[in-house]
Amino acid sequence: MALGAMDIFKHLPAGAKLENANCKKCGSPTCMMFALKLAKKQAKIELCPYAPSVLVEKINEGNKIQQKEVKVDDKIFGGENVMYRHQKTFKNPTGIVVELDCEEFGEFSEKFKRLSNFEIESIGEKFKIDGIYLKNSTPEAEKTVKEAGFAFFNEKTLEEFQIVDIQNKSVPEIIKTLTHIRQKAIVERDEKFSNPTCVFLEEKNPKILSAIASTLICKYASIIIFKEFDEAVFTTLITLRQNIFTDPEKPLQVESRVYEFNNPDENALVFLTTNFALTYFAVANELSSLKRSSFLVVTPSEGMSVLTAWSAEKITAKIAKKIVENNDILNSVKIKKIIIPGLLADLKTDLEEALEGWEIIIGTTEAYKIPDMIKNLNW
Ligand code: SF4
Repeated sequence: MALGAMDIFKHLPAGAKLENANCKKCGSPTCMMFALKLAKKQAKIELCPYAPSVLVEKINEGNKIQQKEVKVDDKIFGGENVMYRHQKTFKNPTGIVVELDCEEFGEFSEKFKRLSNFEIESIGEKFKIDGIYLKNSTPEAEKTVKEAGFAFFNEKTLEEFQIVDIQNKSVPEIIKTLTHIRQKAIVERDEKFSNPTCVFLEEKNPKILSAIASTLICKYASIIIFKEFDEAVFTTLITLRQNIFTDPEKPLQVESRVYEFNNPDENALVFLTTNFALTYFAVANELSSLKRSSFLVVTPSEGMSVLTAWSAEKITAKIAKKIVENNDILNSVKIKKIIIPGLLADLKTDLEEALEGWEIIIGTTEAYKIPDMIKNLNW
């Protein structure tokens, strides 16, 4: 584990209450400042002539690389430095790579076309397959793969990865093997395990393929090379991967502004919610499928969901007033009613006081119930 500033400081002369404390020979005004720089890897331990050998050893150990980053074309794999997502975000999503055999020409062109056409959008991000592993590769096929924007893999590229054999292994055995490798690399900093991991997945049954690949994304494949390509399975896997590799400290959020659905005019409905991406896309999805046009006021709520934002006072009448009053188009609507999430019912009175001329309507607690609610409106 990397050392924190206090772990370092207690070994330095000022922390250990020894002679030479805060002597400034390292270029820092105090031992504490030097410890902070060391913890951030902004200084070298050799600058302090009084650092004890136990500290030097700990720092050198902490500086050892855990898992190497490997760049293949413009994609980066590996480079992880934690075991668990709650410790710090995972860095580089598991690479999703599909195998193509250049000697099977018919299959090559048909599969390549499907791979090129495959693109999904989830929570505002677009995803494609990361790379293609070419068996029996030719320079021409390599060029085609790279020109289509895929990272190109062959036997040579894979030399920088450690290939983990999962053939004939049960799911618990696969987890055990990959966890052991990760532990060796991250916790023990054993250089023999520092290359990112690569797993070949030959399973054909889509259900079993999904189960094993999901396991590999969670624990702990750096890339998976699939023999089979199935649009439905890959959509599921990429969505799972997006969730696993999102920074837990930075909730996905969308820009705070007024969004328009179905060319809104003066008869449009007005909705309000927070800028948590999952909430936004759930509501936006329903609004875009309504027969009526609408505006959606998205408040700046630091990516918090409705209830969390309300409890943290990140969605208040004052905040909503600012965004509503600054939007001219919104103020041109004839029906001065704002539909708020059902979970914000307690905010109704405050909102009505702050937003003069607007009536606040308590909406549904779930986005999928919006269409039913709209059907019953008589305005
Ligand atoms: Fe402290 Fe060592 Fe820097 Fe002197 S050289 S201030 S003892 S860290």
